[in-house]
Amino acid sequence: MKIGFIGLGNMGGPMARNLVAAGHAVTGFDTAAPCPDGVTAAGSAADAAADAAVVITMLPSGEILRTVADQVIPAMAKGAILLDCSTVDVESTRAISEQAQRAGLDAADAPVSGGIGGAAAGTLTFMVGGRDAAFASLTPLFDVMGQKAVHCGPSGNGQAAKICNNMILGVTMIGTCEAFALADKLGLDRQKMFDVVSTSSGYSWSMNTYCPAPGVGPQSPADNDYQPGFAAELMLKDLRLSQQAAEGCDADTPMGLAATALYEQFVEQEDGAGKDFSAMLPRFTQRKRP
Ligand code: NAD
Repeated sequence: MKIGFIGLGNMGGPMARNLVAAGHAVTGFDTAAPCPDGVTAAGSAADAAADAAVVITMLPSGEILRTVADQVIPAMAKGAILLDCSTVDVESTRAISEQAQRAGLDAADAPVSGGIGGAAAGTLTFMVGGRDAAFASLTPLFDVMGQKAVHCGPSGNGQAAKICNNMILGVTMIGTCEAFALADKLGLDRQKMFDVVSTSSGYSWSMNTYCPAPGVGPQSPADNDYQPGFAAELMLKDLRLSQQAAEGCDADTPMGLAATALYEQFVEQEDGAGKDFSAMLPRFTQRKRP
């Protein structure tokens, strides 16, 4: 398949590389990052999009995505599909989908989970919003870049699934970290805490798979001095998107709101920037009750 790929950063670069390795003809464009081996470099986003059956975008924000969509939609061949894999706001996604359809194109949003490791290994999970026909056409590409693709409904529903998932993740990570800090002060050994909670009703992915306490549970960023993994600032981005979406549809999300405020403080006023999002644990252990 002829594929245009725009945004060849930490995620997009390895995803494009996997498409090339699977035999697809990929033409790429990025304003800063170099093209991976095997990807033909285009001079502009529009050049990368012309003649492609599918144009994939993997960009930092909804604002940038809207700019790029304005450039590529007029250049794309009728019937081609615009596939956005970035994590962006639901409103931008739905606006771009309508813009694409007006131009005789199809569009799908397919944000991912699995991080840089999943992008390199081709084991991402795609959460997909878009029409059935688009999902069917894109499935062979999801199979190359990932291990699972869930069709979540019409345009925007992929982003909705992603931000709801990550809002739960942010909230449970904070809950897990504050509980460990409380356990410390109560004199409860962290390993005992893990042994109980990981097999009791307090269990979660944050506790069982990504335990924020060093030396406890499976290997996680806590065992590597909280080098990210999933950086606190990326968690803050996704939590902000969840609150933007909640405002837009008048949903009451008090825990999501509190998690957003806490990660904002951690990243912007404390020393959280550049650390894994599970570094909330040392943050809590250093603090007293306000
Ligand atoms: P990144 O910053 O490494 O890559 C984004 C790339 O887009 C950069 O190379 C940048 O130069 C390029 N770019 C910016 N503006 C452009 C433009 N106008 N035209 C062309 N290229 C442009 O970011 P990333 O880590 O690859 O993340 C990409 C997306 O995936 C984000 O939306 C992020 O939230 C999401 N995501 C990231 C992870 C992760 O672990 N990194 C995990 C899941 C989802």
